[in-house]
Amino acid sequence: MGVPSVFLRTFGCNFKCAGFGMARGETSEEANNIDPDLYTDYKTLPLVSTGCDSYASWDPRFKHLSPVLDTDAIADSIVDTLPHKEWRDEHLVITGGEPLLGWQKQYPDLLDHPKMAGLKEITFETNGTQKLTAEFKDYLLAWDRDDHWRREITFSVSAKLPCSGELWSDAICPEVVREYEQYGTAYLKFVISTEEDLIDAERAVEEFRAGGFTGPVYIMPVGGVERVYTLNNRAVAEMAMRKGWRYSDRLQVPLFKNEWGT
Ligand code: SF4
Repeated sequence: MGVPSVFLRTFGCNFKCAGFGMARGETSEEANNIDPDLYTDYKTLPLVSTGCDSYASWDPRFKHLSPVLDTDAIADSIVDTLPHKEWRDEHLVITGGEPLLGWQKQYPDLLDHPKMAGLKEITFETNGTQKLTAEFKDYLLAWDRDDHWRREITFSVSAKLPCSGELWSDAICPEVVREYEQYGTAYLKFVISTEEDLIDAERAVEEFRAGGFTGPVYIMPVGGVERVYTLNNRAVAEMAMRKGWRYSDRLQVPLFKNEWGT
């Protein structure tokens, strides 16, 4: 938290996470009730307090709000965001949607772009269900053989618990996450609302450990908007202390009220 970072948000997700903020077994209709025709700019879309808070990054009804850019345009846009118009200490965070869907085949083109020289730290914010392709794995391994391009890579794995509304068998993929650890640093991060979620997280951690995952575990309070987030952040911090896990805050919520673009 607090590291200057540029976020690259890719379109599309294999999940919907319509259960967030809802009673068990219920799904949110909040985003479904938003009329996409009323909006011409991503940043004017309403925030939601239930379901996936980045619904416009994967719901096809909102696809017209996401620009389609070639590699030059993306690299220009990223570097233009940097305070010195060149990479210094900034990180690149590639998020979504789910950034390890078909986009894997595009990343080498972007990350080898001359404007990305100097970038040293990259994080993929993933739901931990997508295997790395053979081509992308070869590409990442090549960095280790070439000091010029040596880069730190992190897989921030937000595995989805049943409170998301997604099926356990689809969402908890120990063999996928175990493999991420061979190509960078990986950690697990669970969004928690209730004690029931904590029990689910414990079960998930057991499965990930049994599958060979060795990285740290974070828990984070549910809450895309401040009202929901402040309801349970202390309780989740206390759960983390009880379990010996790490607590992850949502710095953007108190700072920016989770506005689009933050
Ligand atoms: S995995 Fe992430 S982006 Fe995809 S629906 Fe769930 S919360 Fe949203």
